[in-house]
Amino acid sequence: MKKVYIETLGCQMNKSDAERMYGMLEHCGYTQTENPKEADMLIINTCSIRQLSEDKAYSAIGVWGKWKKNKPDLKIVFAGCVAQQAGEKLFRRAPYVDLVIGTQRLYELPNLVKRIEAGERVVSTEEKPYEESDIQINRVKSVNAWVPIMEGCNNFCSYCIVPYTRGRERSRKPELILNEVKKALEEGFKEITLLGQNVDSYGKWLAEKTEENPWGYTKDEEGNVINLAWLLRRVNALEGKFRIRFVTSYPTDITEELIDTVIELDKVCEYFHIPMQSGDDYVLKKMNRRYDYATYKKICENIRSRIPDVTITSDFIAGFPCETEEQFQNTLKAMTELELDYSNTAAYSPREKTVAAKWVDLYIPEDVKTERLARLNEHNRECCLKSNQKYIGREMEVLIEKYEEAGGSGRGANIISGRTRNNKIVHIPYDEDITGEFVNVKITSARTWYLRGEMIN
Ligand code: SF4
Repeated sequence: MKKVYIETLGCQMNKSDAERMYGMLEHCGYTQTENPKEADMLIINTCSIRQLSEDKAYSAIGVWGKWKKNKPDLKIVFAGCVAQQAGEKLFRRAPYVDLVIGTQRLYELPNLVKRIEAGERVVSTEEKPYEESDIQINRVKSVNAWVPIMEGCNNFCSYCIVPYTRGRERSRKPELILNEVKKALEEGFKEITLLGQNVDSYGKWLAEKTEENPWGYTKDEEGNVINLAWLLRRVNALEGKFRIRFVTSYPTDITEELIDTVIELDKVCEYFHIPMQSGDDYVLKKMNRRYDYATYKKICENIRSRIPDVTITSDFIAGFPCETEEQFQNTLKAMTELELDYSNTAAYSPREKTVAAKWVDLYIPEDVKTERLARLNEHNRECCLKSNQKYIGREMEVLIEKYEEAGGSGRGANIISGRTRNNKIVHIPYDEDITGEFVNVKITSARTWYLRGEMIN
């Protein structure tokens, strides 16, 4: 068999796409390799969320292009979000690339590979809903299986490239999702994470939108609306002990029905990832986010009052164009006031085509952005530690994800580590690899990014 190597940059959606590519390519006669130098086909699965990740993609193919001089049969594929934007233009910049495949053309990979093997150079990036079939997925060995349920976004936040790279919102058919979940459980996965850019929009546009049905929802055989809560119920009803998570939520799309469902279903974990992006109303407006701080706060307070021990995590951007020091301070205040358990943070990076990228006069100088990001991170560390300290002395169920022998990172004991239902990482001294098991643990201490505990069963 020939060998294929995929380098994946960026988000979980890209990682999930790579698992699908490996599965499809196995049927085309390719086996996976971890060593790019021995590969017959090299695929870069790109990310365009920040300039840095885009630069990384171009630098990787630059190196591969040089290898091709000594190995002319080597096939180079440029995939993912940067490919979606670059299209034909990429051939001018990198004439050694054989295939440019956009995010919405993933399922055409086997046919496109046949064409490049026959010597063609191909670009396939047109935005066109793909016909998805039940394909093989070569998942990364782990306890958690990522299952995309929807893709794309209709929100057009002024800084975000996703609507231009992943296209408009599309929900996958429920039967395809449920089949994929069943297979993952049969393969031994113990946690299913339902994935989407706006996961709580699941179900919209499965039908044509009409005046009576403006969101294009469909119904099941009993007349129930097919949405995220419906899907969670169906997944929860599958047999076996496993956990269910879902990411990422758009704040104002979190419904009472969804919260009720998280409370009601035993396998759905007490965890919400709800990007806030800024704690300042003016900045939120400029970001084209459809809520103000008070609304976000109400959503958090509602979830926290109804779900004990829930973990709420968020995303923030430092130095968005126009952000004043005072407005930035409002973000820091929001983090503390809402006791956010953890936040992903990033400095603003202008993305071509987006509205905010055009506000060059309002750009925040690099050194100010860097300094704000450092303060945001410091605040994040404080919030995380405070959140972790709440659990000292508590007994929690942990799903073990990893075993590490003593010696690494200066540790003196063998360690197993995993996550609680509310997504806290726990390290436990233990001498046996029991990855994939659920264990009960007493939390003994808290660090910024993880808890320590001891086995109680
Ligand atoms: S909702 Fe999320 S994915 Fe959609 S445009 Fe806004 S930030 Fe991007």
